Amino acid sequence: MTVTRLTKPAKWLNQAGGYLTVYSHTLNPYSGCSFGCTYCYVRRLPVGLFRRAEWGDWVDVKSFDPGAFDREWSRALNAGEVTVFMASATDPYQPAEYRHGITRGLLERMAERPPAFLLLPAAIRPAPVCRPR
Ligand code: SF4
Repeated sequence: MTVTRLTKPAKWLNQAGGYLTVYSHTLNPYSGCSFGCTYCYVRRLPVGLFRRAEWGDWVDVKSFDPGAFDREWSRALNAGEVTVFMASATDPYQPAEYRHGITRGLLERMAERPPAFLLLPAAIRPAPVCRPR
């Protein structure tokens, strides 16, 4: 059974590094992933290695404060071109999304001031948050 915990993120956007430097930022609505795929590279990263729980058995839901995200988002957009890999270390449409809607909340805020590019894995049930301009 997956243990779900609510956390308060210090920030949402992280500077992309390593093989992800084609993006300016990564954005993860959750930490951990209840799918727990055996081939997942995240289980070998520090977030997976130092948790003292099996990868796939836990999910941290990052509590969403739209105002705080908006401020961070504006700072990033004002600093230069923003290209986002969402999500580099979790699945944004894992079961927790059905209940908590963190991915949807982030997309709704970003739709107000879209990035230059956003990579988001295909959703089983696409979130209709984009409006025609
Ligand atoms: S992050 Fe992706 S690959 Fe890793 S366990 Fe979740 S669904 Fe599987």
